[in-house]
Amino acid sequence: MKKAIVIGSGIAGLACSLRLQKQGYLVTVIEKNSYPGGKLHSIQKKGYRFDMGPSLFTMPKLVTELFELFDENPDTYFKYKKKEVVCHYFWPDGSRFTSVANPKQWVSDASIFFNEKASKLERYLKKSALKYRVTAPLFIENSLHELKTYLSWKTAYALLKIPSLDIFKSLDHYNQSQFKSVKLQQFFNRFATYNGSSPYQASAVLSMIPSLEMLQGTYFPCEGMQAISQSLYHFAEEKGVQFLLEHKVTEIICEQNKATGVQIQGLNGGESSVIHADIVVSNADVYHTYKHLLPHLKTPKKITTQERSSSGLIFYWGIRKEFSELDLHNIFFSENYQREFEDIFEHQRAPEDPTIYINISSKEKATDAPQGCENWFVMINVPANSGQDWTLIREKAKEQIIKKLNKLLHTQLETLIETEEFLDPIKIEENTAAFGGALYGTSSNSTQAAFLRQSNRSKHIKNLFFCGGSAHPGGGIPLCLHSAKITANLIESQS
Ligand code: FAD
Repeated sequence: MKKAIVIGSGIAGLACSLRLQKQGYLVTVIEKNSYPGGKLHSIQKKGYRFDMGPSLFTMPKLVTELFELFDENPDTYFKYKKKEVVCHYFWPDGSRFTSVANPKQWVSDASIFFNEKASKLERYLKKSALKYRVTAPLFIENSLHELKTYLSWKTAYALLKIPSLDIFKSLDHYNQSQFKSVKLQQFFNRFATYNGSSPYQASAVLSMIPSLEMLQGTYFPCEGMQAISQSLYHFAEEKGVQFLLEHKVTEIICEQNKATGVQIQGLNGGESSVIHADIVVSNADVYHTYKHLLPHLKTPKKITTQERSSSGLIFYWGIRKEFSELDLHNIFFSENYQREFEDIFEHQRAPEDPTIYINISSKEKATDAPQGCENWFVMINVPANSGQDWTLIREKAKEQIIKKLNKLLHTQLETLIETEEFLDPIKIEENTAAFGGALYGTSSNSTQAAFLRQSNRSKHIKNLFFCGGSAHPGGGIPLCLHSAKITANLIESQS
Protein backbone atom coordinates (compact mmCIF):
# COMPACT_ATOMS: atom_id res chain seq x y z
CA MET A 1 0.00 0.00 0.00
CA LYS A 2 1.34 3.44 -0.92
CA LYS A 3 1.96 5.81 1.96
CA ALA A 4 1.24 9.54 2.15
CA ILE A 5 2.24 11.99 4.83
CA VAL A 6 0.38 15.24 5.38
CA ILE A 7 2.24 17.85 7.44
CA GLY A 8 -0.36 19.82 9.42
CA SER A 9 -4.03 19.29 10.17
CA GLY A 10 -5.37 22.65 8.99
CA ILE A 11 -8.62 22.53 7.04
CA ALA A 12 -6.74 21.80 3.79
CA GLY A 13 -4.60 19.13 5.47
CA LEU A 14 -7.72 17.39 6.80
CA ALA A 15 -9.47 17.56 3.43
CA CYS A 16 -6.41 16.34 1.55
CA SER A 17 -5.90 13.45 3.96
CA LEU A 18 -9.46 12.26 3.28
CA ARG A 19 -9.05 12.56 -0.47
CA LEU A 20 -5.77 10.61 -0.41
CA GLN A 21 -7.26 7.95 1.88
CA LYS A 22 -10.03 7.56 -0.67
CA GLN A 23 -7.41 7.11 -3.40
CA GLY A 24 -6.05 4.13 -1.46
CA TYR A 25 -3.07 5.73 0.30
CA LEU A 26 -2.23 4.88 3.86
CA VAL A 27 -2.31 8.44 5.21
CA THR A 28 -0.60 9.84 8.30
CA VAL A 29 -1.22 13.42 9.34
CA ILE A 30 1.48 14.91 11.55
CA GLU A 31 0.38 17.87 13.64
CA LYS A 32 2.50 19.77 16.12
CA ASN A 33 -0.47 20.97 18.18
CA SER A 34 -2.44 18.86 20.64
CA TYR A 35 -5.58 19.57 18.59
CA PRO A 36 -6.45 19.29 14.88
CA GLY A 37 -7.77 22.16 12.76
CA GLY A 38 -4.97 24.74 12.78
CA LYS A 39 -6.58 28.17 12.64
CA LEU A 40 -10.03 26.54 12.84
CA HIS A 41 -9.94 25.91 16.54
CA SER A 42 -11.93 26.96 19.61
CA ILE A 43 -11.45 27.53 23.33
CA GLN A 44 -13.75 27.45 26.37
CA LYS A 45 -13.46 29.90 29.22
CA LYS A 46 -15.73 30.58 32.20
CA GLY A 47 -18.83 29.20 30.49
CA TYR A 48 -18.07 30.85 27.15
CA ARG A 49 -16.99 29.09 23.95
CA PHE A 50 -15.02 31.05 21.36
CA ASP A 51 -14.16 30.08 17.79
CA MET A 52 -10.61 31.40 17.60
CA GLY A 53 -10.24 31.76 13.83
CA PRO A 54 -12.69 31.78 10.94
CA SER A 55 -16.20 32.99 11.65
CA LEU A 56 -17.69 33.43 8.19
CA PHE A 57 -18.77 30.22 6.49
CA THR A 58 -19.63 30.15 2.79
CA MET A 59 -19.83 27.35 0.20
CA PRO A 60 -20.69 24.49 2.62
CA LYS A 61 -20.82 22.09 -0.33
CA LEU A 62 -17.03 22.04 -0.31
CA VAL A 63 -17.19 20.48 3.17
CA THR A 64 -20.11 18.13 2.61
CA GLU A 65 -18.65 16.70 -0.59
CA LEU A 66 -15.88 15.19 1.53
CA PHE A 67 -18.40 12.98 3.33
CA GLU A 68 -20.11 12.20 0.03
CA LEU A 69 -16.77 11.10 -1.41
CA PHE A 70 -17.10 8.06 0.89
CA ASP A 71 -20.83 7.63 0.08
CA GLU A 72 -21.81 8.85 3.54
CA ASN A 73 -24.64 11.22 4.37
CA PRO A 74 -22.99 14.53 5.44
CA ASP A 75 -25.90 15.22 7.78
CA THR A 76 -24.77 12.40 10.05
CA TYR A 77 -21.49 14.18 10.68
CA PHE A 78 -21.93 17.89 10.05
CA LYS A 79 -25.02 20.09 10.34
CA TYR A 80 -25.30 23.71 9.31
CA LYS A 81 -27.99 26.30 8.63
CA LYS A 82 -28.39 29.20 6.25
CA LYS A 83 -28.36 32.72 7.64
CA GLU A 84 -31.20 35.03 6.65
CA VAL A 85 -29.37 38.10 7.92
CA VAL A 86 -25.83 38.23 6.57
CA CYS A 87 -24.32 41.14 8.46
CA HIS A 88 -25.15 44.30 10.40
CA TYR A 89 -23.17 47.33 9.25
CA PHE A 90 -22.61 50.44 11.37
CA TRP A 91 -21.03 53.72 10.24
CA PRO A 92 -19.38 56.34 12.50
CA ASP A 93 -22.28 58.79 11.86
CA GLY A 94 -24.64 56.36 13.61
CA SER A 95 -26.32 55.01 10.45
CA ARG A 96 -26.95 51.25 10.20
CA PHE A 97 -27.65 48.84 7.38
CA THR A 98 -28.78 45.23 7.69
CA SER A 99 -27.58 43.11 4.80
CA VAL A 100 -29.98 40.25 4.12
CA ALA A 101 -29.47 37.00 2.21
CA ASN A 102 -32.42 37.42 -0.14
CA PRO A 103 -30.92 39.17 -3.22
CA LYS A 104 -34.19 40.86 -4.24
CA GLN A 105 -34.76 42.17 -0.74
CA TRP A 106 -31.11 43.20 -0.51
CA VAL A 107 -31.34 45.25 -3.70
CA SER A 108 -34.50 46.94 -2.48
CA ASP A 109 -33.05 47.70 1.00
CA ALA A 110 -29.70 48.82 -0.38
CA SER A 111 -31.18 51.07 -3.03
CA ILE A 112 -33.08 52.95 -0.29
CA PHE A 113 -30.26 53.05 2.27
CA PHE A 114 -27.43 53.95 -0.14
CA ASN A 115 -29.67 56.00 -2.43
CA GLU A 116 -28.54 54.15 -5.57
CA LYS A 117 -30.64 52.87 -8.46
CA ALA A 118 -31.82 49.28 -7.98
CA SER A 119 -30.84 48.50 -11.57
CA LYS A 120 -27.23 49.49 -10.85
CA LEU A 121 -27.12 47.22 -7.81
CA GLU A 122 -28.60 44.32 -9.77
CA ARG A 123 -26.06 44.84 -12.53
CA TYR A 124 -23.20 44.85 -10.04
CA LEU A 125 -24.31 41.55 -8.49
CA LYS A 126 -24.90 39.98 -11.89
CA LYS A 127 -21.42 40.96 -13.01
CA SER A 128 -20.01 39.71 -9.72
CA ALA A 129 -21.53 36.28 -10.38
CA LEU A 130 -20.28 36.30 -13.96
CA LYS A 131 -16.75 37.13 -12.81
CA TYR A 132 -16.86 34.19 -10.42
CA ARG A 133 -18.20 31.80 -13.08
CA VAL A 134 -15.57 32.84 -15.59
CA THR A 135 -12.53 32.99 -13.34
CA ALA A 136 -13.16 30.11 -10.91
CA PRO A 137 -12.16 27.30 -13.31
CA LEU A 138 -8.83 29.04 -13.99
CA PHE A 139 -7.93 30.81 -10.74
CA ILE A 140 -9.66 28.71 -8.08
CA GLU A 141 -10.60 25.20 -9.15
CA ASN A 142 -7.47 24.14 -11.04
CA SER A 143 -3.74 24.49 -10.79
CA LEU A 144 -2.41 27.65 -12.42
CA HIS A 145 0.93 25.95 -12.88
CA GLU A 146 0.05 22.92 -15.00
CA LEU A 147 -0.09 23.01 -18.77
CA LYS A 148 -3.28 20.93 -18.73
CA THR A 149 -5.23 23.84 -17.19
CA TYR A 150 -4.42 26.04 -20.18
CA LEU A 151 -5.62 23.46 -22.66
CA SER A 152 -9.22 23.48 -21.45
CA TRP A 153 -11.97 25.40 -23.17
CA LYS A 154 -13.02 26.98 -19.85
CA THR A 155 -9.56 28.54 -19.54
CA ALA A 156 -9.70 29.73 -23.12
CA TYR A 157 -13.08 31.33 -22.33
CA ALA A 158 -11.68 32.98 -19.18
CA LEU A 159 -8.70 34.35 -21.12
CA LEU A 160 -11.04 35.65 -23.80
CA LYS A 161 -13.15 37.38 -21.16
CA ILE A 162 -10.20 39.05 -19.41
CA PRO A 163 -10.97 42.53 -20.78
CA SER A 164 -14.42 42.45 -19.15
CA LEU A 165 -13.18 41.24 -15.74
CA ASP A 166 -11.69 44.59 -14.65
CA ILE A 167 -8.50 42.78 -13.68
CA PHE A 168 -6.28 45.81 -14.17
CA LYS A 169 -8.39 48.21 -12.07
CA SER A 170 -8.22 48.30 -8.28
CA LEU A 171 -11.34 47.15 -6.46
CA ASP A 172 -11.83 50.65 -5.08
CA HIS A 173 -11.40 52.25 -8.49
CA TYR A 174 -13.99 49.89 -9.91
CA ASN A 175 -16.46 50.48 -7.04
CA GLN A 176 -16.05 54.25 -7.39
CA SER A 177 -16.85 53.94 -11.08
CA GLN A 178 -20.03 52.00 -10.26
CA PHE A 179 -21.55 53.94 -7.37
CA LYS A 180 -21.68 57.50 -6.12
CA SER A 181 -22.46 56.50 -2.51
CA VAL A 182 -19.21 56.48 -0.53
CA LYS A 183 -20.81 54.12 2.00
CA LEU A 184 -21.69 51.66 -0.75
CA GLN A 185 -18.15 51.87 -2.14
CA GLN A 186 -16.88 51.07 1.36
CA PHE A 187 -19.40 48.21 1.68
CA PHE A 188 -18.13 46.58 -1.52
CA ASN A 189 -14.47 47.48 -0.86
CA ARG A 190 -14.57 45.42 2.32
CA PHE A 191 -14.67 42.21 0.32
CA ALA A 192 -10.92 42.62 -0.36
CA THR A 193 -10.36 41.83 3.31
CA TYR A 194 -11.83 38.35 2.75
CA ASN A 195 -8.40 37.31 1.57
CA GLY A 196 -6.42 39.80 3.63
CA SER A 197 -5.86 42.40 0.89
CA SER A 198 -6.36 46.12 0.39
CA PRO A 199 -9.21 47.28 -1.87
CA TYR A 200 -6.99 50.17 -2.95
CA GLN A 201 -4.38 47.82 -4.42
CA ALA A 202 -6.08 44.48 -5.11
CA SER A 203 -7.64 43.83 -8.50
CA ALA A 204 -11.32 44.50 -9.12
CA VAL A 205 -11.63 40.85 -10.05
CA LEU A 206 -12.26 40.47 -6.30
CA SER A 207 -15.65 42.06 -6.92
CA MET A 208 -16.67 38.45 -7.61
CA ILE A 209 -16.68 37.76 -3.84
CA PRO A 210 -20.01 39.48 -3.05
CA SER A 211 -21.79 37.02 -5.33
CA LEU A 212 -20.60 34.16 -3.11
CA GLU A 213 -21.88 35.81 0.03
CA MET A 214 -24.95 37.60 -1.28
CA LEU A 215 -26.20 35.20 -3.96
CA GLN A 216 -24.99 31.82 -2.66
CA GLY A 217 -25.47 32.74 1.01
CA THR A 218 -23.67 32.51 4.32
CA TYR A 219 -24.05 29.66 6.77
CA PHE A 220 -23.50 28.72 10.38
CA PRO A 221 -22.37 25.24 11.47
CA CYS A 222 -24.88 24.25 14.18
CA GLU A 223 -22.05 23.38 16.61
CA GLY A 224 -19.97 26.45 15.74
CA MET A 225 -17.11 26.91 13.27
CA GLN A 226 -14.89 24.39 15.04
CA ALA A 227 -17.39 21.71 13.97
CA ILE A 228 -15.98 22.01 10.45
CA SER A 229 -12.51 20.84 11.47
CA GLN A 230 -13.73 18.55 14.27
CA SER A 231 -16.21 16.68 12.07
CA LEU A 232 -13.63 16.21 9.30
CA TYR A 233 -11.04 15.05 11.84
CA HIS A 234 -13.36 12.41 13.39
CA PHE A 235 -14.54 11.34 9.95
CA ALA A 236 -10.96 10.97 8.72
CA GLU A 237 -10.08 8.87 11.78
CA GLU A 238 -13.15 6.71 11.12
CA LYS A 239 -12.01 6.18 7.52
CA GLY A 240 -8.53 5.09 8.63
CA VAL A 241 -6.41 8.24 8.45
CA GLN A 242 -3.80 8.14 11.21
CA PHE A 243 -3.09 11.27 13.22
CA LEU A 244 0.11 11.95 15.11
CA LEU A 245 -0.77 14.96 17.24
CA GLU A 246 1.89 16.75 19.30
CA HIS A 247 4.55 15.76 16.78
CA LYS A 248 6.47 18.30 14.82
CA VAL A 249 7.96 17.64 11.39
CA THR A 250 11.53 18.91 11.57
CA GLU A 251 12.63 18.01 8.04
CA ILE A 252 11.27 16.68 4.78
CA ILE A 253 13.66 13.91 3.77
CA CYS A 254 14.71 14.12 0.13
CA GLU A 255 16.83 11.70 -1.83
CA GLN A 256 17.97 12.72 -5.29
CA ASN A 257 15.42 15.54 -5.36
CA LYS A 258 12.59 13.24 -4.41
CA ALA A 259 10.63 13.43 -1.13
CA THR A 260 10.85 10.08 0.62
CA GLY A 261 9.53 10.87 4.10
CA VAL A 262 9.80 13.19 7.06
CA GLN A 263 11.77 13.48 10.24
CA ILE A 264 9.55 14.04 13.23
CA GLN A 265 9.99 14.93 16.84
CA GLY A 266 7.56 14.48 19.72
CA LEU A 267 6.91 17.70 21.62
CA ASN A 268 8.64 18.38 24.93
CA GLY A 269 11.96 17.01 23.75
CA GLY A 270 10.61 13.69 22.44
CA GLU A 271 12.89 11.49 20.35
CA SER A 272 13.43 12.10 16.66
CA SER A 273 12.39 9.46 14.17
CA VAL A 274 11.88 9.11 10.43
CA ILE A 275 8.67 8.08 8.68
CA HIS A 276 8.99 7.00 5.07
CA ALA A 277 6.33 7.76 2.49
CA ASP A 278 5.74 7.80 -1.24
CA ILE A 279 4.11 11.24 -1.15
CA VAL A 280 4.60 14.20 1.19
CA VAL A 281 2.03 16.99 1.30
CA SER A 282 2.84 20.11 3.29
CA ASN A 283 -0.20 21.86 4.70
CA ALA A 284 2.15 24.00 6.79
CA ASP A 285 2.79 27.58 5.71
CA VAL A 286 4.94 27.59 2.57
CA TYR A 287 7.53 29.96 4.09
CA HIS A 288 7.89 27.67 7.12
CA THR A 289 8.15 24.62 4.85
CA TYR A 290 10.98 26.03 2.76
CA LYS A 291 12.86 27.79 5.57
CA HIS A 292 12.67 25.07 8.21
CA LEU A 293 11.73 21.76 6.62
CA LEU A 294 13.83 21.87 3.45
CA PRO A 295 17.22 23.04 4.80
CA HIS A 296 19.16 21.83 1.75
CA LEU A 297 16.99 23.69 -0.74
CA LYS A 298 17.50 27.38 -1.44
CA THR A 299 14.21 29.13 -0.60
CA PRO A 300 12.84 30.61 -3.85
CA LYS A 301 13.06 34.43 -3.77
CA LYS A 302 9.33 34.83 -4.38
CA ILE A 303 8.59 32.94 -1.16
CA THR A 304 10.62 35.35 0.95
CA THR A 305 9.68 38.55 -0.82
CA GLN A 306 5.97 38.21 -1.52
CA GLU A 307 3.80 40.56 0.53
CA ARG A 308 1.92 38.82 3.36
CA SER A 309 -1.82 39.18 3.75
CA SER A 310 -3.09 41.20 6.67
CA SER A 311 -3.15 39.64 10.11
CA GLY A 312 -5.65 40.17 12.91
CA LEU A 313 -5.76 41.42 16.46
CA ILE A 314 -8.62 39.63 18.12
CA PHE A 315 -10.15 39.99 21.56
CA TYR A 316 -12.37 37.20 22.84
CA TRP A 317 -14.65 38.83 25.37
CA GLY A 318 -17.26 37.22 27.58
CA ILE A 319 -19.88 40.00 27.78
CA ARG A 320 -22.28 40.11 30.68
CA LYS A 321 -25.19 41.48 28.63
CA GLU A 322 -27.19 40.81 25.45
CA PHE A 323 -27.30 43.33 22.61
CA SER A 324 -30.46 43.03 20.53
CA GLU A 325 -29.08 45.36 17.82
CA LEU A 326 -26.25 42.91 17.05
CA ASP A 327 -26.33 39.63 15.15
CA LEU A 328 -23.82 36.88 14.28
CA HIS A 329 -21.73 39.18 12.03
CA ASN A 330 -21.37 42.90 12.73
CA ILE A 331 -19.12 45.52 11.16
CA PHE A 332 -18.31 48.96 12.55
CA PHE A 333 -16.65 50.87 9.72
CA SER A 334 -13.80 53.34 10.11
CA GLU A 335 -14.16 56.98 9.09
CA ASN A 336 -11.38 56.89 6.50
CA TYR A 337 -11.16 53.47 4.88
CA GLN A 338 -8.27 54.35 2.56
CA ARG A 339 -6.12 55.55 5.46
CA GLU A 340 -6.89 52.32 7.32
CA PHE A 341 -5.40 50.24 4.51
CA GLU A 342 -2.48 52.62 4.00
CA ASP A 343 -1.68 52.13 7.68
CA ILE A 344 -1.81 48.34 7.32
CA PHE A 345 -0.01 47.77 4.04
CA GLU A 346 2.13 50.86 3.40
CA HIS A 347 3.13 51.86 6.92
CA GLN A 348 2.94 48.37 8.46
CA ARG A 349 1.18 49.72 11.52
CA ALA A 350 -2.12 49.10 13.26
CA PRO A 351 -4.72 51.52 11.89
CA GLU A 352 -5.33 54.74 13.78
CA ASP A 353 -9.08 54.25 13.31
CA PRO A 354 -9.75 50.55 12.62
CA THR A 355 -12.88 48.95 11.23
CA ILE A 356 -14.16 46.62 13.96
CA TYR A 357 -15.69 43.24 13.27
CA ILE A 358 -17.73 41.53 15.99
CA ASN A 359 -18.78 37.92 15.71
CA ILE A 360 -21.22 36.55 18.30
CA SER A 361 -21.82 32.83 17.83
CA SER A 362 -24.10 32.70 20.91
CA LYS A 363 -26.69 34.50 18.75
CA GLU A 364 -26.99 31.19 16.86
CA LYS A 365 -25.87 28.68 19.48
CA ALA A 366 -27.14 29.87 22.84
CA THR A 367 -24.91 27.50 24.84
CA ASP A 368 -21.82 29.38 23.64
CA ALA A 369 -22.39 31.88 26.48
CA PRO A 370 -24.03 31.82 29.92
CA GLN A 371 -27.65 32.94 30.02
CA GLY A 372 -28.06 36.68 29.48
CA CYS A 373 -24.48 36.93 28.17
CA GLU A 374 -22.74 36.91 24.78
CA ASN A 375 -19.40 35.61 23.47
CA TRP A 376 -17.80 38.42 21.49
CA PHE A 377 -15.02 37.82 18.97
CA VAL A 378 -13.79 41.35 18.30
CA MET A 379 -11.30 41.71 15.48
CA ILE A 380 -9.43 44.50 13.73
CA ASN A 381 -7.18 44.07 10.70
CA VAL A 382 -3.49 44.72 11.35
CA PRO A 383 -0.31 44.09 9.33
CA ALA A 384 1.54 40.81 9.56
CA ASN A 385 4.26 40.90 12.18
CA SER A 386 7.48 42.63 11.18
CA GLY A 387 8.69 43.52 14.65
CA GLN A 388 6.01 45.96 15.84
CA ASP A 389 5.38 46.35 19.58
CA TRP A 390 2.25 44.20 19.82
CA THR A 391 1.73 44.74 23.55
CA LEU A 392 1.50 48.47 23.02
CA ILE A 393 -0.65 48.04 19.92
CA ARG A 394 -3.02 45.74 21.79
CA GLU A 395 -3.45 48.09 24.74
CA LYS A 396 -4.12 51.07 22.47
CA ALA A 397 -6.46 49.09 20.21
CA LYS A 398 -8.51 47.88 23.17
CA GLU A 399 -9.02 51.45 24.32
CA GLN A 400 -9.99 52.62 20.80
CA ILE A 401 -12.38 49.71 20.26
CA ILE A 402 -14.16 50.21 23.56
CA LYS A 403 -14.46 53.96 23.02
CA LYS A 404 -15.94 53.52 19.56
CA LEU A 405 -18.34 50.73 20.52
CA ASN A 406 -19.46 52.60 23.65
CA LYS A 407 -20.39 55.56 21.48
CA LEU A 408 -22.23 53.58 18.80
CA LEU A 409 -23.92 51.06 21.09
CA HIS A 410 -24.60 53.53 23.93
CA THR A 411 -22.99 51.28 26.49
CA GLN A 412 -20.07 50.95 28.89
CA LEU A 413 -18.31 47.86 27.59
CA GLU A 414 -15.44 48.05 30.08
CA THR A 415 -17.91 47.20 32.85
CA LEU A 416 -19.36 44.24 30.92
CA ILE A 417 -16.24 42.26 29.96
CA GLU A 418 -16.00 39.38 32.42
CA THR A 419 -13.38 37.32 30.64
CA GLU A 420 -10.76 38.09 28.00
CA GLU A 421 -8.39 36.23 25.72
CA PHE A 422 -6.58 37.60 22.69
CA LEU A 423 -4.71 36.60 19.54
CA ASP A 424 -2.17 38.79 17.78
CA PRO A 425 0.14 38.08 14.82
CA ILE A 426 2.82 36.66 17.12
CA LYS A 427 0.44 34.19 18.77
CA ILE A 428 -1.07 33.24 15.41
CA GLU A 429 2.41 32.38 14.13
CA GLU A 430 3.25 30.47 17.32
CA ASN A 431 0.04 28.44 17.06
CA THR A 432 0.02 27.67 13.35
CA ALA A 433 3.48 28.53 11.91
CA ALA A 434 1.82 31.09 9.60
CA PHE A 435 4.67 33.43 8.63
CA GLY A 436 4.19 36.82 10.32
CA GLY A 437 0.83 35.59 11.60
CA ALA A 438 -0.73 36.39 8.20
CA LEU A 439 -4.30 35.11 8.12
CA TYR A 440 -4.40 34.22 4.43
CA GLY A 441 -0.81 33.48 3.33
CA THR A 442 0.24 36.07 0.77
CA SER A 443 -1.84 39.12 -0.10
CA SER A 444 -3.65 39.55 -3.41
CA ASN A 445 -2.55 43.16 -3.71
CA SER A 446 -0.83 42.69 -7.07
CA THR A 447 -2.28 41.37 -10.31
CA GLN A 448 0.49 38.75 -10.43
CA ALA A 449 -0.29 37.46 -6.90
CA ALA A 450 -2.24 34.44 -8.10
CA PHE A 451 0.62 33.38 -10.40
CA LEU A 452 3.32 33.95 -7.76
CA ARG A 453 1.59 31.91 -5.07
CA GLN A 454 3.20 28.51 -4.35
CA SER A 455 2.09 25.85 -6.85
CA ASN A 456 0.43 22.74 -5.43
CA ARG A 457 3.12 20.50 -6.91
CA SER A 458 6.73 21.29 -6.01
CA LYS A 459 8.81 22.32 -9.01
CA HIS A 460 12.02 21.35 -7.22
CA ILE A 461 11.25 18.13 -5.34
CA LYS A 462 9.43 15.19 -6.87
CA ASN A 463 6.52 13.77 -4.82
CA LEU A 464 6.30 16.91 -2.67
CA PHE A 465 3.02 18.82 -2.74
CA PHE A 466 1.57 21.90 -1.02
CA CYS A 467 -1.97 22.66 0.07
CA GLY A 468 -3.46 25.32 2.33
CA GLY A 469 -3.87 29.05 2.64
CA SER A 470 -0.33 29.96 1.59
CA ALA A 471 -0.41 27.76 -1.53
CA HIS A 472 -2.59 28.05 -4.64
CA PRO A 473 -5.39 29.22 -4.78
CA GLY A 474 -5.03 31.03 -1.43
CA GLY A 475 -6.49 31.47 2.05
CA GLY A 476 -9.95 31.24 3.54
CA ILE A 477 -11.88 28.01 4.10
CA PRO A 478 -13.35 27.63 0.59
CA LEU A 479 -10.04 28.24 -1.17
CA CYS A 480 -8.19 25.93 1.23
CA LEU A 481 -10.70 23.20 0.41
CA HIS A 482 -10.10 23.82 -3.29
CA SER A 483 -6.37 23.70 -2.61
CA ALA A 484 -6.74 20.24 -1.05
CA LYS A 485 -8.81 19.06 -4.00
CA ILE A 486 -6.38 20.34 -6.64
CA THR A 487 -3.46 18.75 -4.78
CA ALA A 488 -5.19 15.39 -4.40
CA ASN A 489 -6.14 15.45 -8.10
CA LEU A 490 -2.52 16.14 -9.08
CA ILE A 491 -1.35 13.23 -6.95
CA GLU A 492 -3.99 10.94 -8.44
CA SER A 493 -3.05 11.88 -11.98
CA GLN A 494 0.64 11.13 -11.41
CA SER A 495 0.14 7.72 -9.80
P1 FAD B 1 -3.70 26.19 9.00
O1 FAD B 1 -4.96 26.46 9.71
O2 FAD B 1 -2.76 27.30 8.76
O3 FAD B 1 -2.98 25.01 9.77
C1 FAD B 1 -1.69 24.55 9.46
C2 FAD B 1 -1.39 23.47 10.46
O4 FAD B 1 -0.07 22.96 10.23
C3 FAD B 1 -1.39 23.97 11.91
O5 FAD B 1 -2.24 23.16 12.69
C4 FAD B 1 0.07 23.86 12.35
O6 FAD B 1 0.20 23.59 13.73
C5 FAD B 1 0.55 22.73 11.49
N1 FAD B 1 2.01 22.75 11.29
C6 FAD B 1 2.75 23.77 10.80
N2 FAD B 1 4.06 23.41 10.75
C7 FAD B 1 4.13 22.15 11.22
C8 FAD B 1 5.21 21.23 11.41
N3 FAD B 1 6.48 21.57 11.11
N4 FAD B 1 4.92 20.01 11.91
C9 FAD B 1 3.64 19.65 12.23
N5 FAD B 1 2.59 20.48 12.08
C10 FAD B 1 2.83 21.71 11.57
N6 FAD B 1 -11.28 32.12 6.67
C11 FAD B 1 -12.57 32.09 6.28
O7 FAD B 1 -12.93 31.38 5.33
N7 FAD B 1 -13.52 32.84 6.94
C12 FAD B 1 -13.20 33.64 7.99
O8 FAD B 1 -14.07 34.28 8.60
C13 FAD B 1 -11.85 33.70 8.42
N8 FAD B 1 -11.48 34.45 9.48
C14 FAD B 1 -10.26 34.24 10.07
C15 FAD B 1 -9.99 34.82 11.31
C16 FAD B 1 -8.80 34.54 11.96
C17 FAD B 1 -8.53 35.15 13.30
C18 FAD B 1 -7.85 33.66 11.36
C19 FAD B 1 -6.59 33.31 12.10
C20 FAD B 1 -8.09 33.14 10.10
C21 FAD B 1 -9.29 33.41 9.44
N9 FAD B 1 -9.61 32.85 8.19
C22 FAD B 1 -10.89 32.88 7.73
C23 FAD B 1 -8.58 32.16 7.39
C24 FAD B 1 -8.63 30.66 7.57
O9 FAD B 1 -8.65 30.36 8.92
C25 FAD B 1 -7.40 30.04 6.95
O10 FAD B 1 -7.23 30.45 5.61
C26 FAD B 1 -7.47 28.51 6.96
O11 FAD B 1 -8.03 28.02 8.15
C27 FAD B 1 -6.04 28.00 6.80
O12 FAD B 1 -6.05 26.61 6.75
P2 FAD B 1 -4.79 25.79 6.29
O13 FAD B 1 -5.26 24.51 5.73
O14 FAD B 1 -3.89 26.63 5.45
O15 FAD B 1 -4.00 25.42 7.63
